[in-house]
Amino acid sequence: MASEDIFKNLVSHSKEYGFIFPSSEIYDGLGAVYDYGQNGVELKNNIKKYWWDSMVLLHENVVGLDSAIFMHPTIWKASGHVDAFNDPLIDNKDSKKRYRADVLIEDHMAKFDDKIAKEVEKAKKRFGADFDEVLYMNTNPRIQEYKSQKEAIHQRYAKALNDGDLAELKKMIEDLEIVCPISGTRNWTEVRQFNLMFSTEMGSTSEGSMKVYLRPETAQGIFVNFLNIQKTGRMKIPFGIAQIGKAFRNEIVARQFIFRMREFEQMEMQFFVRPGEEMEWFKRWKAFRMKWHQSLGFPASKYRFHDHDKLAHYANAATDIEFEMPFGFKEVEGIHSRTDFDLSSHEKFSGKKMQYFDPELNKSYIPYVIETSIGVDRMFLSVLAGSYCEEALEGGGSRVVLKIPAFLAPVKLAVLPLVKKDGLPEIARRIMDDLKFEFGCQYDEKDSIGKRYRRQDAIGTPYCITVDHQSAEDGTVTVRERDTMHQERIPIEKIGRLVENKIGYKKLLQSL
Ligand code: ATP
Repeated sequence: MASEDIFKNLVSHSKEYGFIFPSSEIYDGLGAVYDYGQNGVELKNNIKKYWWDSMVLLHENVVGLDSAIFMHPTIWKASGHVDAFNDPLIDNKDSKKRYRADVLIEDHMAKFDDKIAKEVEKAKKRFGADFDEVLYMNTNPRIQEYKSQKEAIHQRYAKALNDGDLAELKKMIEDLEIVCPISGTRNWTEVRQFNLMFSTEMGSTSEGSMKVYLRPETAQGIFVNFLNIQKTGRMKIPFGIAQIGKAFRNEIVARQFIFRMREFEQMEMQFFVRPGEEMEWFKRWKAFRMKWHQSLGFPASKYRFHDHDKLAHYANAATDIEFEMPFGFKEVEGIHSRTDFDLSSHEKFSGKKMQYFDPELNKSYIPYVIETSIGVDRMFLSVLAGSYCEEALEGGGSRVVLKIPAFLAPVKLAVLPLVKKDGLPEIARRIMDDLKFEFGCQYDEKDSIGKRYRRQDAIGTPYCITVDHQSAEDGTVTVRERDTMHQERIPIEKIGRLVENKIGYKKLLQSL
């Protein structure tokens, strides 16, 4: 099935099974804002917990924080967001649709990758078992031509971005003959900068209200609390502060479901190090974060690093961890070496010292910072995309199954009495009562057992147990495993241990 079709199916599956709903749906929705339903909130919480435990529990020198969304407006001046948190915007005069100029060019460049992939696919079929992909990629003239065309565009694009040259971006869109996907025309406006921060008023008018921003990242809450935590926690450099919270960006183009939202959630960690040691820590965190992603068990080929063409005003090194979504490789996490930019700037704007006294060096300095910043919603989408399978079943029929890593699954165990009589619901209820405080359990007695299995597959429940007449006689139940659909009988008292073994992630954490 084409990947656009899989993506469409995934979006409707998310809604049908209570993972994600468009916000304000009865009022026709609100652009790029979504709500998480009964299964979505569980999966989201589990992702957040795994991240938190792997950052805060695993690292003795990383502690947590929960700072407010509203902050003093000068913070956003100091951070550079008021002046520079912009995206280049362009409108098509015929369709009146708005686009990000950089995204139009990046999408155009991605088409060369598609063309190369198609050539390779064709050659694979033609040459069969003898096909040497690496050799073909390096020698086929058509592929070489695509690669060099893409590289030429890439170099021009990187220069335009780094120079902040909006006219050149417009010229590139014209030269590359990029058309509006809606109107099909090349009738473009000039490229303009657009600030992504939402603002509102704080305080009543009588006392004079103040313009405040909805934070576009959680990181600044960490920077302004750096000394509070360092002092009260007696933290010694190197140490980190982790935070999970909402962030808001007035994105120009809201597309691709929960990939680009206007209200979203971030999991960020700022790691404070000695000046001069930042590149070493950048490398370490880069490796650690990739390991964390790959610990989920999806194929390693679905992940890659992407180094930035244009470094943000605060960074001296930056890379993204990308995941292969149904619409291509996309950023899920950014790892940035932010130098001492933020703390120095807050020192300047607030007039308060933001320095750390290093007892080993016997001197004070402003620490350098490595940031790991991951979007909860993008992570959620990567888990859904990596897990979603449409499978044909032996003997006909099909099923949709979410092969979610068991410890992230919204429901861990479904308890299903075969029939609604003969005392079977009572046994099932007793099992529920015994286990429901240990992990998420769901009781279901409606419809045939086959339909109930399908419902649990569709939300990714790792185990279903069926209580039947034999259970009443010998205290055993049938347990069915989600991915293999393998069934076996086990004693009721062994259910808890079986599920715990499958969903525990202590070993995963230890392996990171
Ligand atoms: P992009 O280039 O896709 O706009 P970004 O580079 O601006 O993303 P960062 O500022 O590095 O993103 O933010 C860190 C993380 O926050 C991203 O890796 C992503 O997972 C998440 N994120 C950023 N913007 C959004 C958004 N609009 N919707 C959902 N998640 C987002």
